[in-house]
Amino acid sequence: MSSKTHSRKYWVGGNWKCNGSLSSIAALSEALNPSPFPFTKDDLDVVVFPTALHVHAAVEKLPGAYNVGCQDCCVAAKGAFTGDISADMIKDFGLNWLIVGHSECRAKRGDSDEKVAEKVKRAMEAGLNVTACIGETLEQQQAGKALEICYQQLKAIANSVTDWNRIVIAYEPVWAIGTGKVATPEYAQTKHMEIRTWISDNVTKEIADNLRIVYGGSVTPSNCETLMQQPDVDGFLVGGASLNAGFVDIIKSALVA
Ligand code: PEP
Repeated sequence: MSSKTHSRKYWVGGNWKCNGSLSSIAALSEALNPSPFPFTKDDLDVVVFPTALHVHAAVEKLPGAYNVGCQDCCVAAKGAFTGDISADMIKDFGLNWLIVGHSECRAKRGDSDEKVAEKVKRAMEAGLNVTACIGETLEQQQAGKALEICYQQLKAIANSVTDWNRIVIAYEPVWAIGTGKVATPEYAQTKHMEIRTWISDNVTKEIADNLRIVYGGSVTPSNCETLMQQPDVDGFLVGGASLNAGFVDIIKSALVA
């Protein structure tokens, strides 16, 4: 039961990135299935994102309270894009969630704001739920440009959204991803509030009030509770700490917030 005043359903994602094997996923699925099992799909949305090759194993092995999604999609609906998977294929496979705009895709695979916007559009057309990532690099933060960058990335995403019920915004400062340098609860709250304000000013207040904004960047079982207490933090996108049993403790922090 939430002590916060809004009615947003919390959301916790586990981004498994390029990790896993059939045997490690079988073991992880057991670790993520404690007894008694602590949550249902009615309590909150929990989504894990394995590699596309491991989606089937995760669906088969994880308890039904977990959703399984894909880490990225093709900019186009189909065609000559070797190595890609389209949003339609993800939906056709029976999955409902997709990450778009992760900083690693932006930095290492050339996902510009325009490409991210195109992927959000494809995902919307396919009927998928989208976790759209935004966040500033250390250089951008040090140059005092964190908010400007977040707003620029947010604007590109917002222009492609046709159904705001199917969007979660993941605020992930790049300097916090995989570094162990988690944002302070105050910093995260300020950024989440500023993101919500932008949505209120540029989309509608009602959509801003209902939009789930989750934090990502070195979230662990020991720092999640205070982050989760912040009024505009609606959950987490978790990388490293989603690869072991501690992920359940992070999920539990969203149950009691
Ligand atoms: C991520 O990959 O989105 C992420 C937040 O990673 P980590 O939790 O390992 O920082």
